[in-house]
Formats: sequence, C-alpha cells, structure tokens
Amino acid sequence: MIGKMKKRIFLDYAAGKDNPNAIYKEGREARARLEVARAKIAKVLSVATDEIYFSANATQLFTACSFGQSPQSRRDEQLLPHIVTTLIEHSSVLEVFRKLECLGAKVTYLKPDHEGFVTAKQVQEALQPDTRLISIMYANNEIGTIQPIKEISRMLRLRKKPPPKTLAISARERIRSLAPVALREGIPEGISFNPLLHSDCVQAPGLLPIDMQSLGVDMASFSAPKFGGPAGIGFDYIRRGIRINVRDACAVDLAENMCEKLEQAEKSREKEVSRLTKLRAYFIDNLLSWIPGIQLNGGQENRLSNNVNIVTPIDAELCVLELDRYGIAVSAGAACSSGDCADGSHVILALGKSKKEANSSVRFSLGGEPSKSQLDYVMKVLKKVIDKNTNLW
Ligand code: PLP
Repeated sequence: MIGKMKKRIFLDYAAGKDNPNAIYKEGREARARLEVARAKIAKVLSVATDEIYFSANATQLFTACSFGQSPQSRRDEQLLPHIVTTLIEHSSVLEVFRKLECLGAKVTYLKPDHEGFVTAKQVQEALQPDTRLISIMYANNEIGTIQPIKEISRMLRLRKKPPPKTLAISARERIRSLAPVALREGIPEGISFNPLLHSDCVQAPGLLPIDMQSLGVDMASFSAPKFGGPAGIGFDYIRRGIRINVRDACAVDLAENMCEKLEQAEKSREKEVSRLTKLRAYFIDNLLSWIPGIQLNGGQENRLSNNVNIVTPIDAELCVLELDRYGIAVSAGAACSSGDCADGSHVILALGKSKKEANSSVRFSLGGEPSKSQLDYVMKVLKKVIDKNTNLW
C-alpha cells in the first residue's frame, strides 16, 4: 500500500506556482488570495467583486473593452459601428481606436478647448444612432486636465433613447435585439441602443475619487505602476451585465501588492491632494512670474494636483537632459520612449499649440516628498538652463 507523502510534490512548474487557474491545492490557495485582493479593490471602487478583472496592463484590458470581445474573437462580434473619444487620450488608447477604424468602426475624436477640456455637450452632439462606445479619460497624463466624467455619465443617463425604428442598425442586429435575451448571445446587455461609457482612469488613484457609482461609468481601466504598484499588472472595472470576453491574467503576488498600494493611495488621498495642490500652486506661480517665456499647458482649475506642464523657450529634450545633469528628473511631453513623438505631443498640439511649442513642452509630476526648497532649486536650475540655451533654438 502506498501512503500519502508528508511533503507535497509540485510538478507543474511549466504553469508556475501560484497559478490561480490550477485546480489542485496550491492553485486553489492562489485563487483564494486573488479573490481577497479582488474584493479589496472592489471595495475601494464601491463596486461588486465580480466587476473587477486583472490584467497585465491597462492597455490590454482597454483593448478588450473597446473591441467588445477579446481581440481574438470572431470578427463579426468585434464590430463597433461608432465610437466617441477625444484627441488627447493616451497613445495606447488611440492606437486601439485606429485598429478599430481599420476594422470598419467610425470614430469621432473630440477636440478639447485650448485649456484641455471636453464637455458633456460635445459628447452629446457627437452621438449617433449607432454609437456603441464612448471612451473619455478621467485625467490626462500629460497636462493633468480632469474631464467632466460625472456630467457625461449624467447626460447619457438622462438622454432620451431614440425610438428603435429611427435607428440605423443592421438587419442582423435588429433581429438580435428582438430575440429573447437567451438568444442574444454575444451582444453585451445594455449595448444595443445605449452607448457604454468607458474611462481611462490610469492617472486617478491617489489623486482623484475613484468611486465608480458616483462617476457613473460602465467600464474603467487602471494600471498599478501609476499608483506605486508593481509593473506588469493593472485592473479593470466592468459593470455587471456587460458581457465582455475578458479573463484574469496575472500573478497573484502582483495582484496582492497592487491591491495594497491602491488601498494606501486611497487612504492618503485627501491629505496628499491638499499638500500637492499647495506645492503645485507655488511652483506654477513662481515659474510663470520668475522665468520669462514660460507658458502653462492646460487649465489651472480641474487639474491633477501633482501636474505641471509648461512650454519652455528651449527644446524639451535638451531641457530634460540639462536638468538631469543637475540631478532633476522630468519628462518631455508624454515621456514618449518610442521616438514617434517627433512631431510633438499629440496632446499639446490638440490644445491648438504650434509644433515648436509642443516640442518645447516639459512635464513635472510631483509625488513622494517634494519640498518648497527642492522646487526653488529646480526653478533656479531651469532658469540657468534656459538662459544658457535660449539662443540655440
Ligand atoms: N492611460 C494613461 C492615462 C496612461 O498614463 C498610461 C500609461 O502611462 C496608459 C493609459 C497605458 O497604461 P499601461 O502601460 O498600463 O498599458
């Protein structure tokens, strides 16, 4: 007779330990830990546990939300007739829309005003009978402008639905919409006549309220490194009833770490925002009054408390490298690493600024423990760097 070994023998290294999809003991334990992290994240967002999905990054889940189904699913399930978004979404989001356009979707890109805001009215005016998705970022990663997501969601809720016969939908969809619910396989509930509202909330944790009920969105994407969490993981909120073919894909320890950082960010949010807002005001006021030729990109109101983005009189990359020599790390525009920003940041250009202004824009994003004296030092160095290089450009 063979007795049970005292020590367990793990022979699933090909899948890896902590695999929450495995059905053996270690897998079940990993699943239980993942569910605890999911429940905690759901609590922070004021949503149900089964409305949170894990993924490798925000872009991956955003792609799934936009395509309606996973990108691998059948082509005819992917079609999204009309989408409304803005010209200042993150490049990874805009890339998804460009792909959808190639598949036949129509996309309306809303232009922000010169301060970087779009309005609920603009969204309303862009709606078409076959609009399926509206995707508007909560806060912009370059210029920090906070979009009126609550107003947009309220407008969508109050909007009268057009009578079905005026809808220009395909026969296939008309038949499906009339079919009993059980037969409408593949059509997310609520999507047939009402557009879904998605928001890229990547820049929000720790700086803006992320109560999804109050925001009123149907879907939202988050990325852990942006709130101090580990690289390689993000999560999405997808309102219950929206059928999107997403599956959790993540390492359990990353999910736990991300959850912990999200809870910390939310806990310290109010105090942090009040501290950063004062520092930001000090920094902006002094930059504008003390260094000639500086302009602020984006409005002063409704702006992330940690964001300062300015047009300088010199080339942005030169400015970043010069500041780096003095031990100061800032970013040129969107911190674009792929080199496709040669024409200047699409966000700064969308504000109506020139290519030259876009190419001389520098972003400071405050965090950690910045003090007034550190900001004074940054301004002194910046002035020196600008004085030295102004005539070179
Ligand atoms: N959206 C915004 C506003 C971002 O700032 C970023 C990354 O910086 C992304 C989306 C992309 O997130 P991820 O790298 O997790 O795909």
